[in-house]
Amino acid sequence: MCQNSQLVQSGARSRQGFPILTRQQASTSKKDSVRVLLIGGIHGDELSASSAVFQWMQWLPPSDSSPLHWNIVPVLNPDGMLAAKPRRVNANGVDLNRNFPTPRWNVEAQRYWVSKTGRDPRRFPGSSPLSEPESRWLSEEIKRFKPQLIISVHAPFGVLDFDGPVDPPVRFGALRLAPIGVYPGSLGAYSGNQVPVLTIELPSAGRLPEQAEMRRIWQDMLKWIEQNIPSSNQVAMAGAKPNAH
Ligand SMILES: [Zn+2]
Repeated sequence: MCQNSQLVQSGARSRQGFPILTRQQASTSKKDSVRVLLIGGIHGDELSASSAVFQWMQWLPPSDSSPLHWNIVPVLNPDGMLAAKPRRVNANGVDLNRNFPTPRWNVEAQRYWVSKTGRDPRRFPGSSPLSEPESRWLSEEIKRFKPQLIISVHAPFGVLDFDGPVDPPVRFGALRLAPIGVYPGSLGAYSGNQVPVLTIELPSAGRLPEQAEMRRIWQDMLKWIEQNIPSSNQVAMAGAKPNAH
């Protein structure tokens, strides 16, 4: 699956020096295609999240029949995932999904870590926002790619969550919408104001759903994107503000 995934080096490396790999696939059939950034494995111990992204990459329609422009990062936290015992955090002990520069990060992220998690080392937000090469690269990539939708895959809560200005999905396969909260420094809190961020929480961190369910989630997701995420031209034509970052 990995070899079939057409991954290339992004040029960025993790804290420990692993390359961060991506797949870029523009649409050649649709000029003004919706740009989707799909991310797996921001938490290294959620193995199913990366496996799901690898599985979905096998089902991507070819660029001449796909209406979407994909930018796919199956393993954002290779340090955590490739550790002898997979870890949520990167090699510097930082929870990358708490390291994004949300408003008042310096106060809120530290306060949350101390008072709400009891200084849980699995949830350490870092010493400063974007202190880590992985989160720094992703933040730059969002500015460069200008996605109209960001999808981040996690586990094991078995729900969908959504931050953004359009109607949220109700259900993909057996996964239903159930907000899991907003955390200082998270990708959803960072990008959700300008770009919709869809969080998919698979039901188990160690095991993928059955193939049929994986396909239902994928197809429901594609349908929801098509019906709900306008391309930049459509937004401009509707007289609304495009999602400039
Ligand atoms: Zn997670």
